[in-house]
Amino acid sequence: MPLEIVRNDITKMSVDAIVNAANTTLLGGGGVDGAIHRAAGPQLLEECRTLHGCRTGEAKITRGYRLPCKYVIHTAGPIWQDGHHGEHELLTACYKNSLELADKYHCESVAFPLISSGVYGYPKAQALKVAMDTITQFLLDHDMTVYIVVFSKDAFEVSSKLFKDIEAYIDDVYVDEHLSAPSESMRMRLQRRYLEKAKATEAEPEECCAPSMASDARLDDMLSQVDESFAQMLIRKIDEKHMTDAQCYKRANVDRRLFNKIKNIPDYKPSKQTALAFAIALELSLNETKDMLMKAGFALSHSSKADIVVEYCIMTGNYDIMEINQILFKLDLQPLGY
Ligand code: ADP
Repeated sequence: MPLEIVRNDITKMSVDAIVNAANTTLLGGGGVDGAIHRAAGPQLLEECRTLHGCRTGEAKITRGYRLPCKYVIHTAGPIWQDGHHGEHELLTACYKNSLELADKYHCESVAFPLISSGVYGYPKAQALKVAMDTITQFLLDHDMTVYIVVFSKDAFEVSSKLFKDIEAYIDDVYVDEHLSAPSESMRMRLQRRYLEKAKATEAEPEECCAPSMASDARLDDMLSQVDESFAQMLIRKIDEKHMTDAQCYKRANVDRRLFNKIKNIPDYKPSKQTALAFAIALELSLNETKDMLMKAGFALSHSSKADIVVEYCIMTGNYDIMEINQILFKLDLQPLGY
């Protein structure tokens, strides 16, 4: 997935480059900077000394040494004052310059911490928005997988009203579904009945089950009427919505290579997260979404909280995949895309 939010320690990320929220001296500090230097070992500081600092908003690159990444990109974030001292522009520049540097060094995967959101005091939710906006913009013309690594879920900007509405909706449909589900004893009874029936069928003479020429023909007939495939529906919908392929897979937060695989391998079945991501990118109605999912062999279920979140967003016309993914992340559910 081109942009993914993960909860992790950035020093553990196996990517081509991790970004360090450094200070302008590049000579080490606390927070994420300290953690990166500790994990990389003293050679990182030695190389940093040769760089002669880094101005706020700029980015410089070193090797990763003992870290599992090839490179560390050091950028100095702005110190938050009141939001009227160019903080937004400077923070945007940190992400932009770091991504451009990563691209120059042919990095295919990059992990960012939430720059400036610790000791430098940038409000976490705003810092996350700058990160997401700048990275999403960059990914419109670049193939790269970018991770935003967060330590805590406090950074999530999902408005509390939206979050409460979704939680209430989950409570309604999820709890209903579970209350109306058959009780355990009922399920056992149904299963017993099924097993008895299966046993009785087994005892029947064999020729009853042997396929006849007539049923062969019927099967051939049915096979010749196979429905439109997932890929065919996807391409048809892209055309109907007057989108380009790239607009669609970028809006779906889906990797170009995966999109091409889906498009070119006729029977390729994407994951449920991918199928749903396309439905969101194409702004399909709930019925169209169900149709598209069915073509990939899935259904929307009220037994799945993630499905309920997506259903709620579609019903309320919220087709912003980044916002949907933030909600899913906050609820510890798998994001859409891939
Ligand atoms: P800044 O000085 O730019 O604010 P900090 O290091 O104080 O930098 O914090 C930046 C962000 O990094 C904070 O949100 C903090 O919670 C987070 N953070 C700290 N250590 C790690 C780590 N090991 N991995 C990922 N994020 C981290």
